[in-house]
Amino acid sequence: MDCIFCGIVSGSIPSSKVYEDELCVAFRDLNPQAPVHVLVVPKKHIASLDEVSAENAADIAAILTAIPGIASSLGVAGGYRVITNIGENGGQTVKHLHFHILGGVKLSERLN
Ligand code: 5GP
Ligand code: ZN
Repeated sequence: MDCIFCGIVSGSIPSSKVYEDELCVAFRDLNPQAPVHVLVVPKKHIASLDEVSAENAADIAAILTAIPGIASSLGVAGGYRVITNIGENGGQTVKHLHFHILGGVKLSERLN
């Protein structure tokens, strides 16, 4: 499968990794939209949050469990935003589930 984030997970595509465990990886966004902009992805290919099921719930739980520690290691503990875009209308451009962690600045209250 031709998936950029599967390539980053396997190491065949270079990235700036900030966290890794057995189920997920976090790396810096190539085109940051805030001083801190990291993507957290499951190692397993899941297309989006729309594909979550009992079978992959542990992968999602691992990501959500890792986020506070990742935020803390990036210096934004207690004040940041987590976003996941879903599908065409949700603005998703990479079809491998990812959670954006954005911080390091007072973010806009607008969500769109
Ligand atoms: P989406 O719009 O799908 O929610 O977000 C995809 C994100 O992936 C964008 O913020 C984009 O900058 C980032 N991105 C796309 N290709 C690469 C890449 O090859 N490496 C890294 N580190 N980020 C990428
Ligand atoms: Zn993938």
